[in-house]
Formats: sequence, C-alpha cells, structure tokens
Amino acid sequence: MKRERQKRSASPSQRIKMHILGSAGDVSGSLVYFEYSANSKTIRFLLECGLHQEHEEINRQKRLPKGVEAKDINFVIISHAHIDHSGWLPALVKDGFKGAVYTHPATRDLLDFLLLDSGRLQENAAERVNKFIARRQKKAAATGKKSRRIPLSVPLYTPEDVPLCFPLFKQINYNQLYTLADGVQLRFTEAGHILGAAVVSITLGKGDDARTICFTGNVGRANPPMLNKLAPVKHADYVISESTYGNKLHQKRDRLTVLAEYLNKAYERAMQKDKSTGHGVIVIPAFAVDRVQTILRDVNTLIRTGRIPDMKVFLDSRMAIAATDVYRKWSSLLNDEARQTFEQGKDAFSPPRFLECKTAAHTNALYENQSEPIIIVGSSGMAAGGKILKHLEKRLVQKNSTVIFVGYQGTGALGYTLVNEKPKTVRVHGNVLPVRAAIEYMSDYSGHADYEEIIAWLRNFESKPRKTFLVHGDGGALEAFKGHIEKALGWNVVVPQRRQCFEL
Ligand SMILES: [Zn+2]
Repeated sequence: MKRERQKRSASPSQRIKMHILGSAGDVSGSLVYFEYSANSKTIRFLLECGLHQEHEEINRQKRLPKGVEAKDINFVIISHAHIDHSGWLPALVKDGFKGAVYTHPATRDLLDFLLLDSGRLQENAAERVNKFIARRQKKAAATGKKSRRIPLSVPLYTPEDVPLCFPLFKQINYNQLYTLADGVQLRFTEAGHILGAAVVSITLGKGDDARTICFTGNVGRANPPMLNKLAPVKHADYVISESTYGNKLHQKRDRLTVLAEYLNKAYERAMQKDKSTGHGVIVIPAFAVDRVQTILRDVNTLIRTGRIPDMKVFLDSRMAIAATDVYRKWSSLLNDEARQTFEQGKDAFSPPRFLECKTAAHTNALYENQSEPIIIVGSSGMAAGGKILKHLEKRLVQKNSTVIFVGYQGTGALGYTLVNEKPKTVRVHGNVLPVRAAIEYMSDYSGHADYEEIIAWLRNFESKPRKTFLVHGDGGALEAFKGHIEKALGWNVVVPQRRQCFEL
C-alpha cells in the first residue's frame, strides 16, 4: 500500500512537463514537447516533429514553448515518416537543433526522399508567392500607383537544408529497450500503419518515480494488408492516442473481392474501343507510401490468380517508385504472407506485365491512345498534384476509362470533388473538362484503425492509465472518441487544446 502511494505521488526531486504543441483539435503538425527534470538536471525533447499541412502559417510561428529554442532540445523521437509527423525537422535543424533523432531505420529511408520532396514544395510555394508579389508591383508601377512594399517569401526550408538532418539519425528497432539519457528509456512497437511506423513508449524516471507515456503515433487497421499487426502494449501511466476515425467505423468486407469487382467492371468498359481515343484506361491515384505498394500487390495477386484479366500495369510516380524500393529493402518487416513472397525470390509488387516509369518517354507513352486496357497507378492519392493530374486530364473525358480512388480524400482536392460531388465538369490545370469516365471509391485501404479497433487494442493495458490524451482528430472525432473510451473502458480521457501544458 505504502509502495502504491509512493508511486502515485511524484518525487519532489522529479518533474515532468508535457506541452501538446500540434495535432490538437486537428490532424496535422504532430508535436509534443517534454521537459524532464531530476537531480537538478533537465532533459528537453520532442516527440514528433510534424509539419502543419492544414494551417501552414503555424510552421513559421514560434512553435516551441516560451523561452525554449531549437538549440535547447536534446533529442527528437519520430514515430513514422509521414510529413505531418516528421516534416518540421529540417526547419528545427535550420534553427540550430543539433541533437539526436531517434526513429526506425525504415522511417529514415523513407524520409530520405519525403523530406526532399517537402523541401521542394516549400521552395515552390515561396516562388509562387514571390511571382505574385512581383506581378502586383509591376502593375502598380505601370499605373503609377504607390504600392506597399511586401517582403519576399522565404521558404521554410529548401532541399539543400534536408541533408543536414541525416547525420543526426539514430536507429531504433522494434521491441528493444534503449536508454537515451539517465532516466529516459524508449521502446518502439509495431503500429501497422506504414513501413517503420511505431507506437512509442517512453519511460521517464526510475523505480517508483518512473512514469511511462505510450504514444500511438498513427495506428493501422486490425488486419493490415501487408504490414504486421499493431502490437499490444500492456502498461502505461499516460496514453496519447490518435483519433482520426474516433467517430467512424470502416466497412468490414473483403478488400480483394471489392477491388476485383471494380477492376473487372473497369476492364469491360475499357475493352470498348473508341475510334478516336482507343481503349479505356484504369487510373488509380494512391498515396506514394504504403497505399501504392498495397495496390500493386493486390493487383499482382488478382492477375496471377486469374481473378482479373492480365493487364499491363504502370507505376508513374517518382516518389512511389522510391517508396516501393524502400518496401522491397525492408520486406523483412512485412507480414508473413508478403514476406514469404520475397523470400521465394519473387517481387510482390510486380504484376506479370509491369513497368516503373523512370523516363519521360515511359510517361509520355501513357498519354497516347492505348491498344489494350491498361492500369496506371500514381500519386498523389487525392489527385491534388503530381503526374496523376495529367493522366486524369487525358482520361476523365473518356467514357471507357475508370478512375478508382483508394484512400482518404481531403476537402478541396480534385479527388474529393470527383468522389463526393459527382460533378459533370471539373477544372484540371486550368481547363474545364467534362467528366465522362466512371469514378469509383474504396475506403478499404485506410491506414488508420477505426475507434472500435483502437479500443480493442487499448483493452490490452493491464491497468487503467492515469490519463488518456486524445490528439490527431478533428473536433467531432475527438469528442466522439472520448465518449466511446469512457463508455467502453471507464478511463479518464482529456482532449487537449493546442499549447496546453500538463504536469505528469
Ligand atoms: Zn501517418
């Protein structure tokens, strides 16, 4: 009893502060700051270093707590490679951070090209703003009007800043306990979300003073198509959980059966040859990391088992080709079925007639009329940019073509409009196009567990955590998920505000 009471009250010589700095009330810019003080020493670290993709101005504001600078941070822990969890790192390094970055080695390999791409996007965005400013000033000068001088936009970081991050990376493997500093231990377990994604357990303090914080990062479906399942965690004093699907349940159906049905229908449509445009094309926009690889593997399986006709399959996305190579390199991390394919010397991601488009000639050939139905897989998954837009521009107008969206569609993206608004026309690259192609949507490829699946995982905890914090969800999802956890488990659940500080 005495022991329990000691465990409940933190030692006066130890203090743990946690500041929720991002992904609070929304699903972007994950960032949590910890300050652990013991024996007159203070360790400051960040859990996640995410770029805010919804409200980009936040990335330029003072994101760290008052009085804390980038150079004061001892280390950063990153759960997985998605940019909303990792993409602020080059900005932090640019600002003077020199500590270690702890993450899974597969995450590091994915970040190799994801951070570079993010740097290019930052640079392009600044260029666009500066061109606009230049045009306005030129117009003002021509009309003799006085115009207010607007400072030029400077990118948050550029591709040149990105390589400075990599010497800081330190490898963390699943299921091993690492001591990062005196009184700070870290363990990664499988999250089943994307390759290398981890549920992060951090223990601060020793003996009865020890406090364990379990952070879900992003967690995958109960049976991820290609990755290992989300691993159980049995103990934590505090849980920080994602809530993306806090108010939604996924359809429970056989993914391969639905995909086969859509592809067979699309093939029949594509076989109807048009005199001027040739055969139809099946376009599948998909996120470059995990979604593209899962689609390729599923299409490969369906063709090789005769469930769909043997069509030529093209992967036309620089990022997705790079990501697929990382998945091949780390095939040891895939689930038994996918891993065994690689162990037999076969490539799970290569259908029988498959081409990765690595040259302009490869891509240009896909814009031509086709002499047989083909499948083009590319990114972005929401058709918000990338080479897939040009394929859509060409194929949306053809009534024998089909577009199959396979992931989350954010409001405002072309994919969202096509799936949810079923428009007669859309604007692509400034051109208004009639939508004649069939538009299909499958939610079965989601990389996030729904609330029932997360609650099933939370049941593995052997005792109630003191508190559970909900992040990474929109307002409705967070409140609904809080209600579901309270009802199912009777836990103490908090929905923190951005910049809210807690003493643990
Ligand atoms: Zn993610």
